[in-house]
Amino acid sequence: MFSKEEIIKILSSNDDSILKKADEIRKQYVGDSIHLRGLIEFSNYCNRTCYYCGLRYENKNIERYRLSPEDITNTAKYAKSLGLKTIVLQSGEDHYYSTSILCKIIEEIKKLDVAITLSIGEKTYNEYKAYKDAGADRYLLRIETTDKKLYNTLHPNMSFENRLECLYNLKSLGYETGTGCLVGLPEQTIESLADDILFFKELDADMIGIGPFIPHPNTPLGNYKIDLKKNFDLSIKVMALTRILLKNINIPATTAMETINKNGQIIALQSGANVIMPNITNDEYKKQYNIYPNKQNQDIILTKEKISSIGRTISNNKGFRYK
Ligand code: SAH
Repeated sequence: MFSKEEIIKILSSNDDSILKKADEIRKQYVGDSIHLRGLIEFSNYCNRTCYYCGLRYENKNIERYRLSPEDITNTAKYAKSLGLKTIVLQSGEDHYYSTSILCKIIEEIKKLDVAITLSIGEKTYNEYKAYKDAGADRYLLRIETTDKKLYNTLHPNMSFENRLECLYNLKSLGYETGTGCLVGLPEQTIESLADDILFFKELDADMIGIGPFIPHPNTPLGNYKIDLKKNFDLSIKVMALTRILLKNINIPATTAMETINKNGQIIALQSGANVIMPNITNDEYKKQYNIYPNKQNQDIILTKEKISSIGRTISNNKGFRYK
């Protein structure tokens, strides 16, 4: 177990031997098989104004779309036909989908005998409970940063406390709970990234997604200058340390990693990651789910080729957290 000081030292040094260590821990605790999750980005409408995100309400330079419940369940059927065993439903915070509509969608998709992960933002305890009762298995809600001051600056009209409460509500309702952080935000320190990793451990998260921050031109952080290569390397290190500390959890090679490094997926899979989320949203819509520029959606066929090229296999189960 690393102390905060040790984590800071590793993140600040040029030594990347922990990547190999993370790969060994990954192999020991979760094995060589990779879980594929079919990602459906079903709405890019959002009420929030997060400073980094291209879906923010104030971005008028984006064509908005919403999939009908029928389109969503049809896309899930398509995912099932591809052999995918988990469906991830992600969107902006869009109040158009009422609790009863969402629950109906969840119930329909559950008939396909797949696991369902939701990633639809902050909701009340009762809403989370309703989705769980309808059959949802997992929930992704990144804390984004545990630096409370930075969190509150980047998320107008939101609160760090509420984000935390949402995560603890999800845990107490029995969801497999995923969180994670952005790496390379303006004013973010190495100390706070160490706190992020220790927070994942404290929450005992079941899944962790780490993404390098990629500035989006139509956001308040659009002109922020960032060395994407350095930021990629730092994100990989944060992910590797997370694997070393949390051991048996599920960790995706994230789309943002793939976007800023053309070998991002493979590097991540060899530094602690064991999950990939191929995007199965209809082509016409997925290019409009523009949270950051040039998003490299992970294609299922290419993904499978990459997996076998590094001697790994595709999981044949739903991919819950290993005991
Ligand atoms: N509305 C949902 C889903 C958000 S999109 C929610 O609030 O959970 C999923 C993730 O994309 C976010 O959690 C954020 O970490 C990431 N993201 C948003 N903008 C980004 C950017 N500019 N660069 C990198 N990742 C970004």
